[in-house]
Amino acid sequence: MSAEVEYEPVIGLEIHVQLKTRTKMFCCCALSFGDEPNVHTCPRCLGLPGTLPVVNAQAVHYGIMIGLALGCEIAPRSQFHRKNYFYPDLPKGYQISQYDVPICGPGRLADVRIHRVHLEEDAAKLVHVGESGRIHSADRSVVDFNRGGTPLAEIVTEPDLHSADDAREWLILLRTTLRAIGVSDVNMEEGSLRCDANVSLRPKGSTTLGTKTELKNMNSFRFLAQGVKAEIERQTKLLRSGEEVSQETLHFDPASGRITSLRSKEEAHDYRYFPEPDLVPLVVDDAMLEAARAELPELPSARAERFEETLGLPRDRARDLAFRTELGDFFEAALAAGGADADPIAVANWIPALVERIGSDADPASSKVSPGALAGLAGMVAAKSVNQTAAREVLTMLVASGGDPAQIVEREGLGAIDAQDSGLAEVVAAAIAADPGAADKVRGGNMKATGPLVGYVMRETKGRADGGEITRLIREQLGL
Ligand code: ADP
Ligand code: ZN
Ligand code: MG
Repeated sequence: MSAEVEYEPVIGLEIHVQLKTRTKMFCCCALSFGDEPNVHTCPRCLGLPGTLPVVNAQAVHYGIMIGLALGCEIAPRSQFHRKNYFYPDLPKGYQISQYDVPICGPGRLADVRIHRVHLEEDAAKLVHVGESGRIHSADRSVVDFNRGGTPLAEIVTEPDLHSADDAREWLILLRTTLRAIGVSDVNMEEGSLRCDANVSLRPKGSTTLGTKTELKNMNSFRFLAQGVKAEIERQTKLLRSGEEVSQETLHFDPASGRITSLRSKEEAHDYRYFPEPDLVPLVVDDAMLEAARAELPELPSARAERFEETLGLPRDRARDLAFRTELGDFFEAALAAGGADADPIAVANWIPALVERIGSDADPASSKVSPGALAGLAGMVAAKSVNQTAAREVLTMLVASGGDPAQIVEREGLGAIDAQDSGLAEVVAAAIAADPGAADKVRGGNMKATGPLVGYVMRETKGRADGGEITRLIREQLGL
């Protein structure tokens, strides 16, 4: 069999974020979600002749905040363009967007470079009504213009991602960042965060980019990861069988896992972009930059750095906590509740065990475990007054009914057997007596053979003894 070529996936994301302004991008209609269709419209967002757009200052402010949060250069002067195409949800026949001079230039979020961020308006929404309720057998399509003209920021990354899971993780970080700065609801299910993924493959080690396809509108983090995975597999098969990837726009159906072609890829020149003649260039002055900067809170990436550098957490743990605001908040609340003695690493180590017990998407702040209880538990383990196994049991009880870990340990008799407690030495002696074969192996230098002896002691002590202490006593009693 000939060695198969190994391919490296290359992924770049294009993300649309609905800005949480009060009104639309170029008119005074209110933004609405879930209202009756076509109640938030006016001559401007319906594209009636003779109407003129006016830029929403709050949307510009949010655009600058996004740029600063993503470390982008902010253009002192940018330009709106018309992107021309026909679709029933686009009454003007063009979308006002930005083209060659976007409001934000190159930046970076974690390991992914940002290519640009620009401002634009959303299209309206087509609703397909069919007897079967399925899009392709629609009897008719109707338009809801409420969404038409909603302010959007489009964020375009460089192709710096190399797996479906990395793409998902990074998008979660982006969402956390945008949520922290308060510019959007960033809800994928509701469409206030929408993501297209560009995917290509190249032979491992190569630095040239392969032909890419574009997966449209994945509406959950899970579907993004599934879609990208499926597309990587599809392209791998094509390339392995000597075929070529053709540049096209694709749809991933999460229900069937199938990828279908929507259209062959359009090019920028197809849209006949030209400068919006009804708008002057967008000028961002120092006062606007200052106002945006002043509103930025500590960003998740900065928080991760602080956890790592000031509190000494390992990098991955620091990121896991900081990139999910509610976990970072709970961690910091626990540290504060634990007082000066609380060890950040010890406290942080208990967060994953907590998350595992409350459900991976749940907010620990709404669980029955108080930050103080978690800090207390971490402190007891660090002080060896309860061992890991017992502490995990205590955590399970805390999740179920709350309370104080010290009292639970007391009530359930889960406290660690004191190292000085002669009782433990006796149990170890009994273990050696009960399994002379294992004891001989350990004497002979086979430390793996301590397993059954340790197991005996753990059973006898109901898991309350300290593993290290047991091993120490075994060696001591066997004269090693
Ligand atoms: P297009 O002109 O087709 O829109 P762009 O160059 O504007 O392409 O890039 C759009 C997105 O596709 C960006 O996120 C970019 O990082 C990504 N991208 C570009 N080329 C590739 C490639 N070969 N493989 C994967 N992603 C790519
Ligand atoms: Zn309007
Ligand atoms: Mg593009």
